[in-house]
Amino acid sequence: MNDITGVSFLPLGGTGEIGMNLNLYRQGEAWLAVDCGIGFSGNDTPEAEILLPDPVFIAERKKALAGLVVTHAHEDHLGAIAHLWPQLGCPVYVTPFAAAVLRRKLGEAQLLQQVPIHVVAPGSAFTVGPFDLRFISVTHSVPESQSLVLRTPQGIIIHTGDWKIDPDPQVGPPTDLETFAALGREGVLAMVCDSTNVRTEGPSASEADVRREMTRLIASLEGRIAVTCFASNVARVETLAKAAQAAGRKVAVVGRSLRNLEVAARECGYLSDVPQFLSEQEANSVHDDQILLIVTGSQGEPRSALSRIASDTHPNISLGENDTVIYSSRMIPGNEQAVIQVQDNLTRRGVQVITDKDHLVHVSGHATGGDVRKLYDLVRPRYLIPVHGEWRHLTANAAIAQELDIEPVLLEDGDILDIRANGVEVGDTAPTGRLVLDGGRILPMNGGVLSARRRMLFNGMVLGSFAVDDEGYLIGDPKVSAPGLLDMEDPETLRITEEFGNALDEIPDELRVNDATFREAAKTALRRALGRKLQKRPLVDVHLLRV
Ligand SMILES: [Zn+2]
Repeated sequence: MNDITGVSFLPLGGTGEIGMNLNLYRQGEAWLAVDCGIGFSGNDTPEAEILLPDPVFIAERKKALAGLVVTHAHEDHLGAIAHLWPQLGCPVYVTPFAAAVLRRKLGEAQLLQQVPIHVVAPGSAFTVGPFDLRFISVTHSVPESQSLVLRTPQGIIIHTGDWKIDPDPQVGPPTDLETFAALGREGVLAMVCDSTNVRTEGPSASEADVRREMTRLIASLEGRIAVTCFASNVARVETLAKAAQAAGRKVAVVGRSLRNLEVAARECGYLSDVPQFLSEQEANSVHDDQILLIVTGSQGEPRSALSRIASDTHPNISLGENDTVIYSSRMIPGNEQAVIQVQDNLTRRGVQVITDKDHLVHVSGHATGGDVRKLYDLVRPRYLIPVHGEWRHLTANAAIAQELDIEPVLLEDGDILDIRANGVEVGDTAPTGRLVLDGGRILPMNGGVLSARRRMLFNGMVLGSFAVDDEGYLIGDPKVSAPGLLDMEDPETLRITEEFGNALDEIPDELRVNDATFREAAKTALRRALGRKLQKRPLVDVHLLRV
């Protein structure tokens, strides 16, 4: 398949319910990665919080990996680089703002010196190995978002990344529709397109509308105002700062990710005409009617500033009667319960909660059905490959393409699509999977450690400990502990301990010589002692101590 002019596209994450974008393009023998993001697990995997795409397919071909291009600075597009780069080992191509965000992450992972970073100006052309590339500026909810154009021997391919159409985005240029149209006139073979918000009909609402409404709303409120939004949405942060200014309020930021993003944004020349933000300590010396707090925690994250404020455990900031919290963000599916709990706690304290259901305090950064239709009309690609969304989003995107006589191609993660000037075809399949970021370690989702944790989570764990002499005979009484299952004082614990002791005595002599066989026999004894009364199958383990 690898003739010098052959071209393939392979999504390795991003066509499922958890969008961790990792895309690969092949041209001849060379590979190019586009984006490398993390995903946040929903309620179905409580043992894992942060997920990463398994890069094993490209890690095995890392010598042929010419580079990694990042379309924008969102976590689900660049958040995995600091964790997976050692397996990729390639240069990384980013815009200045994404570079500022990425450098901080690489610094925290002690990788800053190793990773070659090439900063590419928005909208400019560059090459990576044999790949002839060009960025196109698009509007999204983070500065400097880019679509990527690949000029391949088979034809032009456009990878949209995340985008929307907003004629007045407040920060950065609007989506460069002229360049898209020019490519359309030249002829585009395939377009790989974001599907997140295509089920919303009509054109996107503008950040300018949010700015107007936010300015009106903030001027009308008394008491402390706290607004929560995504830290990386610099246009929104600027909207809040300007609305505060117009209402005679100073701005303070609360939460680490907001402070980091403020630094990155100012470094790259953004927020230049709004005053430096106050710290949360400084906020307390400003009168309640003269302060606006921007806080992290729009998704109900338990350790975030807003969750702590809601439960009155934040060290510096408190809110109560007469104060208002505005959610200038959408609820990511899976986070509903956590968000509602925080809102409930705030309401209990007498705080007024305002969301995008009450006022226009948020617009999505993703293309609506109307936006997508407009772009397809301009570009007229021969093939449309929907990515970044759940299956119902991908199929909705495909349906729009079909209406416009563009042939949609639906792929699952791992499908290798061979793209030729005269047709496309899924040739091969690559292994895919999920990894879990567990503290500082990366573990396979289906590996032993997380399987054991899943079992402990639902069935608890029972640990039996006992000491034996060199001939293998019990010294003293065994101990049994069952954290997450039984209290130490529970009569059931005493019964199990006693039966475990009796069962240990019955283990045949020949099994006592070797530690491994002894341990296995002791585990069986402990399982038997547990019996059926608990109606659980906990994780069972023993500690054997020879003295
Ligand atoms: Zn994004």
